[in-house]
Amino acid sequence: MKAIALFSGGLDSTIAAKLIIDQGIEVIACNINTGFGSTKDRLAHMKNMCQQIGAEFRSVDIRDEYIQDVLFTPKYGYGKNFNPCIDCHAKMFEVAKRVMEEWGASFLISGEVLGQRPMSQNSESLQKVLNLSNCEGLLLRPLSAKALTPTIPETEGWVDREKLEHIVGRNRERQMELAEKFNLKDYEAPGGGCLLTDEKFSNKIRDFIAHDTFTVEDIPTLKYGRQLRLPEGAKFIIGRNAEDNEILEKIKNQKFIHIDTELFGPHSLISANASDNDKVLAAKLVLAYCKQDFEGEQTLMFEDVALTTVSDMSRHDAQKYFI
Ligand code: SF4
Repeated sequence: MKAIALFSGGLDSTIAAKLIIDQGIEVIACNINTGFGSTKDRLAHMKNMCQQIGAEFRSVDIRDEYIQDVLFTPKYGYGKNFNPCIDCHAKMFEVAKRVMEEWGASFLISGEVLGQRPMSQNSESLQKVLNLSNCEGLLLRPLSAKALTPTIPETEGWVDREKLEHIVGRNRERQMELAEKFNLKDYEAPGGGCLLTDEKFSNKIRDFIAHDTFTVEDIPTLKYGRQLRLPEGAKFIIGRNAEDNEILEKIKNQKFIHIDTELFGPHSLISANASDNDKVLAAKLVLAYCKQDFEGEQTLMFEDVALTTVSDMSRHDAQKYFI
């Protein structure tokens, strides 16, 4: 008997998988990559948690289909920000069901807890997710199982319902007890938040789609660097630190061109169709953020095109263009 666990690396999904593994069932922990997870790399953390509970780790990239089917047209709308949680969960289960068949598993599990999140994990939302993903009966939520209708794995006797949990609500005491019982270490995920629940990130998406069509290649252009919208419509991105600069340097996206300077300073990008005025403004702002002292005119390269200007703007001047 094999099950697929929807896996985020967080405590709840880890415990849910462990409860099933302890019933002698092989669990494949499946992380679904929507493209909007944290900017921190959590792969090592997820693998570490899987190792502790004896689950195999796999990741499935659904970025394209997420943008096509979920992000801009959620049937059940958005949460407080750009987070289409009900449709997002349903998409994840739909994908998990697809891989369940491919990977020879018989049912799905998730770490959802009834009533833990008022909007996306109340009983009505959990049911909507089942209907939308067509997973009715196949999805077992081990942490709240005893508070929910029995699923196929329980009624068929593949899983002993008596050994599952009855956790309801936001209190995490029982999860902590189970973490201790299972001897789980380092279970606090570093920066695990979904960016779609972040107000500032949501504003960046809204700004982007007001000016351009959005595709998978555009995701990193929203995640890294200071984000500015210049007066004549160009998008301008300027690295905040070495980590941003390293990632921004590697971006290959036809909608953007890279700006290079000989000076020691941030890496930056601007819309490929930027007007001349926006390019001059961007050049001045790049100079404002350079860390090296210099005097007089400077030449910056907008890919193959040189632009020479003086530095007569400050970082403070940049603020009015921040998205
Ligand atoms: S928080 Fe983000 S990843 Fe989680 S369900 Fe909502 S939109 Fe999806």
